[in-house]
This record gives sequence, structure tokens and C-alpha cells, in this order.
Amino acid sequence: MNKETEAQLRAWLAYYEELGIRLFYRDRLASLPRQQTRLAPATGPRASRPAAPPAPAAVTAEFPVIQAPSLFEAMDRVEGDTLERIREDIGDCTRCRLHRSRTKIVFGVGNPKAELVFIGEGPGHDEDVQGEPFVGRAGQLLTQMIEAMGLHRQDVYICNVIKCRPPENRTPEKDEIATCSPFLVRQIAVIQPKVVCCLGNIAFQTILGTNKPISRLRGQWFDYRGARLIATYHPAYLLRNPAAKPDVWADLKKIMAVLGLKPKRRQL
Ligand code: URA
Repeated sequence: MNKETEAQLRAWLAYYEELGIRLFYRDRLASLPRQQTRLAPATGPRASRPAAPPAPAAVTAEFPVIQAPSLFEAMDRVEGDTLERIREDIGDCTRCRLHRSRTKIVFGVGNPKAELVFIGEGPGHDEDVQGEPFVGRAGQLLTQMIEAMGLHRQDVYICNVIKCRPPENRTPEKDEIATCSPFLVRQIAVIQPKVVCCLGNIAFQTILGTNKPISRLRGQWFDYRGARLIATYHPAYLLRNPAAKPDVWADLKKIMAVLGLKPKRRQL
């Protein structure tokens, strides 16, 4: 790695770490003591939000991408991986306690070459019964969101952080997420979408390895292993809080702009 690249990596590493986001290419800088990669503690009103290092010239003002060097080269890729192989590897999974109460494993559905991937939290009752993600009430709203963007469900890929329904739809435990999320990471690596849209806290926090709430970072662009990543509110949250719809529509419009899509509606 040359000095300039290393300096860029250091700057971005420090920036993401200030935001509490774990990076997957930290191994590249394994020789760096952790202290040296951190920014000096910020003070004053912006203390909780460090300034991003200068963005590369290619990043337009219209889409202010928080862009790090592509992480693709550094990730652990499974040679010749396919969605079928990932599903086979999951098998009739008993890796965590959720297998005891699930009906069906909910792997993912949609276009295996999708430009846009939606990631939810985990299956609910309807998904558990049908074996397909987002088919219940929240799923119907997600379908409306997708159609409002001028797409159909089969154009995108839809999956979840965990593949089995937690009892009573409780939030997945950390160990359940840790066990299941490597399959999600492989799914995204195989599909290679242009845009990943995380729906809700669990998806966003898992994918970016942060504990920051979505309310703070939704609608911003991140680089995720060569794809652009954005997070927005989960459709189930929208069902409870319809007042958040304009925020979600604003986030979806950012995705549409990147994918060159014309909205089918003026609002959600
Ligand atoms: N909520 C999710 O996060 N995923 C689903 O598949 C359904 C509801």
C-alpha cells in the first residue's frame, strides 16, 4: 500500500470510528496502534459528529456520499459463491436457538442481479409461515415503497439480517445476529448491488457495525464494500408513525436519483 492510500485509509478509518462504525479493512492497518488512528477528541457543538475527510472529486454535491475506499478487495470472499450455495450452506440450520420456534427459514427473494437490495430485521409471523421476507403488513408497505420508486418487487432483492423468526417477534439477540449475519454479507457480495437500503436500526447497525441510532444517520450515504449504503426507517415503524413518511420518501428519492429512476408518485 502506498503512503497516499494509507493516509487516506487512516483519515477514513478515524472518521468512521468516530461515528462508531466498525470497518472491515482494519486488518490492512493492523500494524497501526489504535490510538494513532483516532481523531483528537472534538469539542463544542459538533463534538458528537466529526467532519468527514475531503471527498474525492467524483462525488457530486447532489449526492454527498460519505465515501471510503472500496472494501471489496479486503473482504473475505467465498470463491465462486452463489445464492444457491449460500442457501445450501444454511441448510436446515440449527446454529442458534431460533431454529426451535421457526416454521420456515426466510432466505431472501427477488432479482439475484438486483441493483437495489433492501435489508430488514428478521421474519415476522407471516414471513415465518410463507418462507418469504416482507409479506405481512410491513411487507405490503415495503411493496408500495418499491412501486412508488417505479420498480416491482421482483426487480429488487429483499432479505433480512436474521433468517428465522424470533419468538413473539422480539428483537434479535446479539449472538443470533452474529451467527446469521455472515450469510447476509455473502448474499450482498454475490448480488453486488449498486445500492443497499437498510430498513431500521438492526439492519443498519449490523451492516455498518455501529450502535448509532438510525434517527441520526438515516438518509446519509455510506460506502459498503463497493456499494452505496443508505438507511431509512423500517416500514413497521412507518405503520406506527406515518408522520415519518416524508423522511422515508426523501431517502427513497436519493436512491432513485442514484439509480436513475423516475418516481411513480409525488409522495409515499
Ligand atoms: N420485518 C422485517 O424486518 N422483515 C421481514 O421480513 C418482515 C418484517
